[in-house]
Amino acid sequence: MDKVDAIIVGGGLAGLTAAYHLATAGRQVILLERGDAPGSKNVTGGRIYVDPIKDYLPGIIAEAPFERHVVKEIITVLDDDASVQLEYANDRWRSEPYMSYTVLRATFDGWLAEKVSEKGAFVIPKKKVDDLLWEEDRVVGIKAGDEEIGAHIVIAADGALSFMAEKAGLRKPLEPRNYAVAIKEIYRLDEKTIDDRFGLQPGEGTANLFVGAITRGMFGGGFLYTNRDTLSLGIVVGIGDLIQQKDPVAASLLMEEFAARPEVQRWIRGGELKEYAAHIISEAGAGGIPKLYTGGMLVAGDAAGFSLNLGLTVRGMEFAVASGAIAAGVADEALAKGDLSAAFLSRYEQKLKESFVLSDMETFRHARDVLENKRLFTVYPKFLSELLAALFTIGKGKKEPLYTSAKAAVRKYILNWEGCKDLFSVRKM
Ligand SMILES: Cc1cc2nc3c(=O)[nH]c(=O)nc-3n(C[C@H](O)[C@H](O)[C@H](O)COP(=O)(O)OP(=O)(O)OC[C@H]3O[C@@H](n4cnc5c(N)ncnc54)[C@H](O)[C@@H]3O)c2cc1C
Repeated sequence: MDKVDAIIVGGGLAGLTAAYHLATAGRQVILLERGDAPGSKNVTGGRIYVDPIKDYLPGIIAEAPFERHVVKEIITVLDDDASVQLEYANDRWRSEPYMSYTVLRATFDGWLAEKVSEKGAFVIPKKKVDDLLWEEDRVVGIKAGDEEIGAHIVIAADGALSFMAEKAGLRKPLEPRNYAVAIKEIYRLDEKTIDDRFGLQPGEGTANLFVGAITRGMFGGGFLYTNRDTLSLGIVVGIGDLIQQKDPVAASLLMEEFAARPEVQRWIRGGELKEYAAHIISEAGAGGIPKLYTGGMLVAGDAAGFSLNLGLTVRGMEFAVASGAIAAGVADEALAKGDLSAAFLSRYEQKLKESFVLSDMETFRHARDVLENKRLFTVYPKFLSELLAALFTIGKGKKEPLYTSAKAAVRKYILNWEGCKDLFSVRKM
C-alpha cells in the first residue's frame, strides 16, 4: 500500500496544529475533517490563554483572529431567586501583551486551516474517518467509507469522544461520570452595545462564569463570553448526574431556564439568537487520560482527555494546540528515523510530561473530586444568599446585630461536619 507520511484525523486545534508543524517540516500531510469546514463542528466557551500557546504556533499567533482581550472576570453565584456577583478587573490585562482572548472557533479554526493549507498540507473537509488500518500491531492508515489511505503515522485528534483512540484499544468506552454535556448559544449584539453594557473599552472583553441553582444540584455551571459583536452563552452539566436524576430534566431545558434568569437577561437582552450547538466535554482530568500512543499512532487534544476545569478557569484549547505541536514533533522524528514503533513513539508522553500539558493535568488531578461536590451547587449558593439577605434586610421589628445574623447563617450551612470535609478537600486543588 502507498503511504503518505501522516494522516491527521480531526480538524480542530489539535489536528490543525499538528498538520501545521508536520507540513512546515516538509512532510506529506492529509488532514481529514468530518465537518463542512474546520471550525464548523467545534464548540468552545470560550477563552484562550495566549502565553501557553505562543511557542507552539510561533510567528502566526500574533495574526490570529481573536475576538476581544479579557480584562474582567465576573463570577455569579445563583440561588433560586437571588444571586451574588463578584467582579474582578485588572488594569494590567488592559495593555499588551494580553493574557487571554475570547474566541469563536468557526473563525479561529478556519484561519488556522488556511495557514495549514499554505504550508502544503491537504485539509479535506466532509470526510469522516471510520476505522484504522493495521499491519500486525501497528496502525498503517485509515478507512473513510470505501476508501483506504495508508500512512506511516496517524494522529488521532478527533475530539472528546475519540473513536479512533477507542478503536486502537487505547481507551475504554465512554463512562458517563467522566463527561459533561454543553449547550451553547451565540447572540448577535452590536459592538457598542456590548461595550456599554459590560463597561468595556473597544476591543476589551469579559469572561463570566455562573454556578449554583441553574444546574439543579448537578455538577456544572454556566458561561458568558463577550465576542466582538456576539455573546457566547452556555451551560455545562455532568452526564453522570443527568442520567441519575429522579425527575429527569433535559440539558436543553436547563439552558432555557438559565437564559431566562434576570442575571443573564441583563446581558443578552435584545440579542438575536444566531447559533445553537451541543457538545461533549471531558471532565475526568488526569484520571481520564488514555494511553497516548501505539505503533504508528499518537493521540492529541480532547481525544487524549486534555482538558482541565478548575471552576474558575476552563482550559482545553491550549492543551490541544500544545499536544498537537508536540505530537507533530515526535512524528517528524519518528519519520526521520524510520521508526514508528510504540517504543519510539513513547517519547511523546515523555515530552508532554516535560511541557505544561501533563504537568498541569497532574497538578490538578483531584480538581474534579472537589468540583463534583453537590454542596457547591446547592448549599454554598444558599448560604451566600441567606447571609447577604440577613445583612441587607431591614424589617418591621428590631434588627439583630450583623454579627449575630452572620453567625446564624454560618452555623446553619458551614459549621458542620460536611463543611469541615469541604474545607479539607479544597487542599487537593
Ligand atoms: C462548551 C464548551 C466550553 C469550553 N470552554 C473552553 C474555554 O473557555 N477555554 C478552553 O481552553 N477550552 C474550552 N473548552 C474545551 C475546548 O473547546 C477543547 O478542549 C478543544 O476544542 C479541543 O480541541 P481538539 O482539537 O482536541 O478537539 P475538537 O475541537 O473537538 O476537534 C475535533 C475535530 O475532529 C473532528 N472529528 C471527530 N471525529 C472525526 C472522524 N471520525 N473523522 C473526521 N473528523 C472527525 C470533529 O468534527 C472536530 O472538528 C470548552 C469546551 C466546550 C464544549
